[in-house]
Amino acid sequence: MAAIDLRSDTITHPTDEMRRAMAAAEVGDDVFGEDPTINALQERAAEMLGQEAGLLTASGTMSNLIAALTWCSRGDEMVMGQEAHMFWNESGGPTALSGAQVRLVPNDANGKISAADVQAAVRDATNIHVPATTLVCLENTHNRCSGGVMTPQDTREVVDVAHAAGAAVHLDGARIFNAAVALEVPAAELTRDVDDVSFCLSKALSCPVGSVLCGSQDFITRARKWRKMVGGGMRQAGVLAAAGVVALDTMVERLADDHANARRLAAGLANIDGLTVDPDSIHTNIVIFEVDREKVGDARQVIAALREDGVLVSHSREQSLRMVTHRHVTSDDVEEALSRVNATIRRLAASA
Ligand SMILES: *Cc1c(COP(=O)(O)O)cnc(C)c1O
Repeated sequence: MAAIDLRSDTITHPTDEMRRAMAAAEVGDDVFGEDPTINALQERAAEMLGQEAGLLTASGTMSNLIAALTWCSRGDEMVMGQEAHMFWNESGGPTALSGAQVRLVPNDANGKISAADVQAAVRDATNIHVPATTLVCLENTHNRCSGGVMTPQDTREVVDVAHAAGAAVHLDGARIFNAAVALEVPAAELTRDVDDVSFCLSKALSCPVGSVLCGSQDFITRARKWRKMVGGGMRQAGVLAAAGVVALDTMVERLADDHANARRLAAGLANIDGLTVDPDSIHTNIVIFEVDREKVGDARQVIAALREDGVLVSHSREQSLRMVTHRHVTSDDVEEALSRVNATIRRLAASA
């Protein structure tokens, strides 16, 4: 019985077409700006996101770090949602390495932060007693908020408030193409108003590694120097970028399949006694659901029991578990996973 792996879309392997493109990639020394395949990827990514230029980095974490370093200096302040990946899951890098502090504002259940909350959080630039707000960070889709989506309108409202306060807006768009596909809008609609945006090639887009940071020419020139400082100058990385070009050509539209599978998964989980999820709140490929401790048991024990029964899931927080759909999970796998989960939960409930 093969395990069905729903821990993350990061487990996806490169496609055959990617492997062929990688083997054949034309390369050069990218620290000299001479890798044609990297240049092609960066240009294509920037164009798709309505920005002037792009910069290949090792990971989403590195892109977010470079954005923080580019916009923030020691003693500045960056505003972000209290559930932000940059706050929870990046080892403290954005604040530790930039020397700026973080100011948290609420995320709603879909991960949206409101313009009103950002307005209340930004500082008075004329007051010498307070830090300067130089950056506001958005996240779309929202990892810890069930893959929730911010619309172009939501985004613009926050951007307007930030700009009026003299702050730039960084969009952590690790899964921005999931948001675009879910909203049925071109990705640029979600990204052209922000000052920079990062996205991951290595998640549902199925590349082995990489992220692209996009912004104005001036921003990317400054970001390139920070990338160098954090050790991210890569030489013949066109071998990696080649997979990225294939991903942007072939992996974006199919994300709709992952979203349909995630909704099926959520609908099935909602029917299992002891689990709680609102299927209507699932718009992309992340399903976060609650396990009733009294009826079923501790979330960590549930993860271990599911693993024994051939379903791999991850822990979100407290009694919440997370499933992520991706290219290696078919609709048949979803049905099979639901039947395995149902059996596991019944067994645990019987002995609880
Ligand atoms: C995965 C993720 C990142 C980090 O990307 P890595 O490539 O794993 O470093 C950043 N932000 C969000 C929202 C993510 O989901």
